Amino acid sequence: MNTNNPTRPRVAIIGAGPSAVYALKRLITSEAPLAILIFESGARPGVGTPYDRQQNSPAMLSNIASIELPPVCETLLDWLQRIPPETRHGWGIGDADLHERHFFPRVVLGDYYADQFGALVNEAARRAATASRCTRAPASAILSRMRAGSG
Ligand SMILES: Cc1cc2nc3c(=O)[nH]c(=O)nc-3n(C[C@H](O)[C@H](O)[C@H](O)COP(=O)(O)OP(=O)(O)OC[C@H]3O[C@@H](n4cnc5c(N)ncnc54)[C@H](O)[C@@H]3O)c2cc1C
Repeated sequence: MNTNNPTRPRVAIIGAGPSAVYALKRLITSEAPLAILIFESGARPGVGTPYDRQQNSPAMLSNIASIELPPVCETLLDWLQRIPPETRHGWGIGDADLHERHFFPRVVLGDYYADQFGALVNEAARRAATASRCTRAPASAILSRMRAGSG
């Protein structure tokens, strides 16, 4: 994606965890289309540090239920209801657990945020706000490249 359009204000988001997901949700509704660059040092943008399957045990539960979680494109519960039952069961989530006050594994929260992040990037393209992902890109490396004039 081209984020170099000089007429568009450029916004950089450093780190694509849940805070970035909510910031992106707000930024793509800006009246003037923005060029948004997202720098994430990890492999899966959106997931966030405590919810990453590579860093956390599936046995650890989140302390926030769907009813308390601000929806991104859809609620956590709505998203879970779209997941094939065999996948959900593999995550230890039975059909009877599907309600808005249930506490799900932290890593499932990470899967939700990763999915919603992808949906927001697609939505940004639809709204003509450019959102460019840059995974496995620590901000320090990118910023020094930009300072050197090659970014
Ligand atoms: C062990 C633990 C358990 C938690 N459990 C809960 C819970 O159950 N419920 C709850 O509400 N909150 C919980 N929290 C709080 C949690 O920190 C927040 O809910 C959430 O992770 C905050 O999101 P964030 O995007 O601000 O930060 P993070 O999730 O930490 O995301 C930051 C992102 O920035 C990236 N990053 C960092 N440095 C750079 C860099 N230099 N360049 C590029 N990318 C970079 C990281 O890879 C990461 O993806 C928990 C925190 C911890 C530590």
